[in-house]
Amino acid sequence: MKTFSLSAVCRHLFTPPILLIWGVTLWLMTFDNYALVSHLTQLYPPMGGQSGLLLSLLLFFTLVTALWLLLISHGRSARWLLALVIFSSAFAGFYMQEFGIIIDTVMLDNLFQTDRKEAFGLLSWEMIAFVTTVGVLPAAWLLFKAPDSWFSRDRLSTRALHVGLVLVLMVTCVWPYSAGYASFIREHKLARMYANPSFMHYSLIKWTNQHLSIPESQALEQVATDTQRIGGNTKHELVIMVVGETARYDRFSLNGYHKLTNPRLQQEDVVSFKQVTSCGTSTGVSVPCMFSVLGRTHYEAKKARHMENALDVLKEHNVSVLWRDNNSDSKGVATRMAYEDFQSPAQNTVCDTECRDVGMLKGLDQYIQAHHGQDIMIVLHQMGNHGPEYYRRYPKSFEKFTPVCHSSDLSKCSQQEIDNAYDNAILYTDYFLSEVIQLLKKYDDSHETAMLYVADHGESLGEHGIYLHAAPYMIAPKEQTHVPAILWLGKQFDYSINQVRPYQNYPLSHDDVFCTLLTAYELKSSTCHSHYSWLVANPVVRAELKSPTLPAQAQPQTQTALPAPPATVSRGQLPEPTLQTELASSENSGQQGRRIKPIHNAALRRGSTAT
Ligand SMILES: [Zn+2]
Repeated sequence: MKTFSLSAVCRHLFTPPILLIWGVTLWLMTFDNYALVSHLTQLYPPMGGQSGLLLSLLLFFTLVTALWLLLISHGRSARWLLALVIFSSAFAGFYMQEFGIIIDTVMLDNLFQTDRKEAFGLLSWEMIAFVTTVGVLPAAWLLFKAPDSWFSRDRLSTRALHVGLVLVLMVTCVWPYSAGYASFIREHKLARMYANPSFMHYSLIKWTNQHLSIPESQALEQVATDTQRIGGNTKHELVIMVVGETARYDRFSLNGYHKLTNPRLQQEDVVSFKQVTSCGTSTGVSVPCMFSVLGRTHYEAKKARHMENALDVLKEHNVSVLWRDNNSDSKGVATRMAYEDFQSPAQNTVCDTECRDVGMLKGLDQYIQAHHGQDIMIVLHQMGNHGPEYYRRYPKSFEKFTPVCHSSDLSKCSQQEIDNAYDNAILYTDYFLSEVIQLLKKYDDSHETAMLYVADHGESLGEHGIYLHAAPYMIAPKEQTHVPAILWLGKQFDYSINQVRPYQNYPLSHDDVFCTLLTAYELKSSTCHSHYSWLVANPVVRAELKSPTLPAQAQPQTQTALPAPPATVSRGQLPEPTLQTELASSENSGQQGRRIKPIHNAALRRGSTAT
């Protein structure tokens, strides 16, 4: 007859595989969840009145981890799987703790698109020491030293029992604090994204699903198919668009920053738009999104990959498009364009410790001359302020603000050192942009020249303990989403910079780039009726937009005077420029009688017109 003793029950319940999973859970919670614990203790200080909720949350996240490991690791494969979890969680834990980053689908996109140079930029001795101690050694022990018997005596019944037990414990732990959990779930989305590895694994599943659900062979969807040219074509366009990297709006002295970071641009007649928001908080989202017709709210990477972008539309209308890249790549935007990689000395002739953005200007004269008689669009994708090694982003001669942080481990540097290194990189961008303008000035008589600079996203430099970028958009701080955007127009361009200046405070975004590019090349499309353009409204263009070739649309209101643009305006409350003032402005600047371009009015804002 069988006898049931407590020890026998324990032996049945806590088999080696189960003990191993609990051991790994405790290891992960102890060493790789500093960021989670730190966020929870900030929300619910241990000595505050909610210490019970704090303990309950800590226990809950531990149970979530255990439950997840119980579900995914089974049998002999558990050895490899748990080792991989320990190793990857150490990496994630280090970067979450060090930079306040979150491993969501956008971050995974970044990670999988990171090139060798970027990856090296993130290495530090602290990271290597941490990952070796907390990730490599325990993973290696598990792989090579743990007894085989630990993985062989795995029974499904025991596993199911433990899953049930964990679920019961989870309910028990949540029940007394249900109100606290309700507010935690509603108000503190950010904190739970630091749960390591559960949120990272959740993101990985989501990312895989996003990337595998559409076959790559899907046909390319055409956009703005009714696009057509309007107006005469006396001179060809030469537009250089600079896609900036990791530049913050508030670090440009053009925008009021107290350090002189734009000494050169301040001498040029430029407009700096004050309220431009990015589409994403990472290169991988913002760059394809700004050229896409989808706009931020409808943007999805898999959708955009199979759709034409603004450059495709330009190319279809005989614009010669060239993409030069000193960043990682074009993120799929230039797939069908002439593309030149300027990250290596093989192509870029201005390289010291790394290849400089200004090297992308070499040889452009030949390109422009070779495409004489054609409209030209050149995109220059900068290395800009890519972090965390801001000090590497400029030659020594641009080290104007000192002392600077010379480490990729920002925690080793003072705030002043981090700021200085970052600001020196902005100073270098200022130089680069002014060089772009000097190049365009050479073609001011022969072409309609323009430069548009737009940064892809900003950067956190320690505000709220967050560094770098790629925060989920919903909770992203403004430092990551408020981006600089600068326009320079040559004297042959259809509009003078003074006509654009009154609109510099308008709330614009990456969504508006698509139609801005089309309008700059005198292309009109009904797609743009509901979009902003960054170029100034023009009364004659309104007449064009009302032409019978296009669908009906809302009539712009007319007012008697152009209201002064307020310091801040939000979408939906834009002041309407008047016909009279614009005509006067047009006359004063000698624009009257020139050919007309379809520049869209602020009144034609998204949602306000029929399309
Ligand atoms: Zn970027």
